[in-house]
Order: sequence, then structure tokens, then C-alpha cells
Amino acid sequence: MEHSVHVTRCKEYDPNRIRKQVEEHLDLYPKFNDLTGKKVLLKINLLSASDPKKAITTHPVFVKETVLELQERGAKVIIGDSPGGLFNPNSLKKAYEATGMTKIAEETGCELNFNTDSHIEKLPEGKFTKSFNICDYTRNCDLIIAMPKIKTHMFCGLTCASKIMFGVIPGTEKVKYHTRFPSMIDFSKMLLDLTVLSKVDLFLVEGILGMDEKGPSQGNPRDVGLIVSGIEHTSIDLQVSRMVDLDPNKLPIMIAARDLNIIKFDEKIKVTGDGADFKLSPPFKPAKGGALLTDPPRFLRRMSIYLSTNKPVISHKKCIGCGICAENCAGETIKIVNDKAKIRYSNCIRCYCCHELCPHEAVYLSMKESGLMNYVTDLAWNYFIGKEK
Ligand code: SF4
Ligand code: SF4
Repeated sequence: MEHSVHVTRCKEYDPNRIRKQVEEHLDLYPKFNDLTGKKVLLKINLLSASDPKKAITTHPVFVKETVLELQERGAKVIIGDSPGGLFNPNSLKKAYEATGMTKIAEETGCELNFNTDSHIEKLPEGKFTKSFNICDYTRNCDLIIAMPKIKTHMFCGLTCASKIMFGVIPGTEKVKYHTRFPSMIDFSKMLLDLTVLSKVDLFLVEGILGMDEKGPSQGNPRDVGLIVSGIEHTSIDLQVSRMVDLDPNKLPIMIAARDLNIIKFDEKIKVTGDGADFKLSPPFKPAKGGALLTDPPRFLRRMSIYLSTNKPVISHKKCIGCGICAENCAGETIKIVNDKAKIRYSNCIRCYCCHELCPHEAVYLSMKESGLMNYVTDLAWNYFIGKEK
């Protein structure tokens, strides 16, 4: 396995500078030298229909300059992702418009994916998961470039190269994976298998503007100033965690990679480019208080969740009752009552899909409102009023 990563410094969304750097990165990978007649998929981060300034999605200037560079090398380019929530042409149209992708397609003539079909693929060599239902759009191309952002993640600790391919699972089906793998480590192991199945040819990471603390959608946009590339996802993520100073021992996605013997935390990575010695100052603030790192018995798990993790709380002022959180709730524990979302906490596994996907920032995470009283209240609820699932 090749533990090498190329890092360049890029502080702003200056098209010329980005174009030169994208060219420098692509030149390192022989597959991308002559793309005559090849169809290249850009698998971007399109988490939600949000303004690029919020640093939630891959920035349109970075995507556009990559499209232009690939077209110059002879490629036909298609942009795609399956965002959270419903996966249909309407929701895709909204997401493409809000994130600047529609404009890119108009200006460059590249294609936007609207195919929402999917199929089952087996992964006999999978270390943890042996088959997935994945979107067809990832297979209607010759080469795949994954374009993640550098963000913290409440569930996996870091979302970058090893997390981006979750977007090949169709829309709301992602929820099932949270239900099947409630522990962060197991979920991360599943993601590592999915990344192998996805057969990405190159990871081209946009770290110009990143996000820390409550990532991937409600954290602080942070000037990072990097473009990173490589072909081995865990090497990229380990190097990124070193550069933004996140401890891999506290990142479930890295712990999963170490436990599966994919990488060691003291692995020597060959880092090239003018950003090889980059160190972010001040460092990223980690995403604190996510779900559990281990999978203890149900009773202990529940109690630990209450005592040690942030609780998703609905802001009644901001909630408009659209129901997106309920549709995507892995614990099936959100209901819309009188046009407001209500969470029954006894089944909440702290996947934070509600927090990630609420388009109105009406779900905030709070440690203050967690704790023993909530635990006791929910136990009483279950005992006197309803049974746990
Ligand atoms: S919390 Fe957000 S996603 Fe859920 S119903 Fe309210 S506005 Fe919609
Ligand atoms: S309430 Fe939110 S955090 Fe809890 S299981 Fe549902 S989506 Fe996940």
C-alpha cells in the first residue's frame, strides 16, 4: 500500500491559483495524464443544499477549476453525490443550485448526475461488511475522483477521504447503516469497506476552507489553506489529522482503520509539495461528545450515552416542522407534533443525522441538557407509558 500524499498551500478561492495547483496534483497520477474519451466522475461533498460560504460542501470554485483541467485533458466530466435526505431529481436540483454546481454545469458544459437508481454489489474481501446497495451513478464512468472537504464530524471524528464515499449509498438508506452500526467504530469500519468497494482512482481534498467543532454541518468554518491529494484514503486522513492537530486516538474513523490493520498511527507517510510541513495554528477544535467509541451492553450503553454525549435538542423557535429530521432518524424516534419536531430520547443513538440535515439549523447539540435526569425520565417513560423498541 502506498503511503504518500501531496499537499499544496492555497489560501483563497482564486481560480488561477487553484487551477495551477489542480494541474500540479493531477500531473502526479499517470491515469489522469491523457483523458481522451474518458468519463470522469467528480464525487463531491453535497451534504445539503447550503451556501458554499458555510463550508459544508465542496467549494464550487475548486470544483469548477478541476472540471476545466480535466476537460483540457480530454475528459467528459460528471458531478454527483447522494446528499442526506430524499434522493430524487428534485432534491438533487435544489442541492446543485444552492451549492453552485448548476452554474458550473452551465459555464463548463459538464454534466450533473440525476440518476437515482442503485444496485447491490458484493465485497467478499470486505473486512467488516460484505455487500452494499450503491448508486448507479458511480458505475457509469471510467474514473472516479472523490473531492471531500476537511471537516470534523460528530460521529466519525473527521470527515475527509475515508468518509466521503458514504454518499454512494442512496439517500435515506444511509439511516439503515446508522441503525445497523450504532457504535462509531463499527460504523467507521463499514465506511472503510465502502471506500474500498467504491474504487476511487484519486482523492483530491479541498481544505481551503474547512470546518471544526460541530462538523460536518454546524461547526465553525476555518481557514485551513490546503489542497491535498493521494490514492490511499487512510494515509490522507492520517496526514490531515496531523496537519490540523486532531489526535487519531480520538477519531473513530482512524481507530477503525488501525483496528482493521489498514494503518498504524506512527506510520511514515511520504509527504510532498509546498505544504509538506504545514501545521494549522491554532489547531482544529475537535467534535466533542459524539456517540460511544465502544459497544457495551444495551443498558450500559444507554446510560453512558446519556451521561457522556451531547443530546440533540430541537429549537422550537427555528423548527418549521418540515420532517426531514424524522425521515432520516436512525432511531426512528422523531415525530412531528403540532408542526414541530419532537425527539423521544430513549431510542436516540446519537447518530446526529437530525443535526446534520436540518436545513433550518433547528437542531442543536447540548451537553447541559444531557445527564442523569434525562436518563431517569426516559426510563420512567418507557416503564409507565411505552415499551422500548
Ligand atoms: S428540526 Fe429541522 S428538519 Fe426537523 S422538522 Fe424542524 S426544521 Fe425540519
Ligand atoms: S434523534 Fe437525531 S441523533 Fe437521535 S437517533 Fe434520531 S437522528 Fe440520530
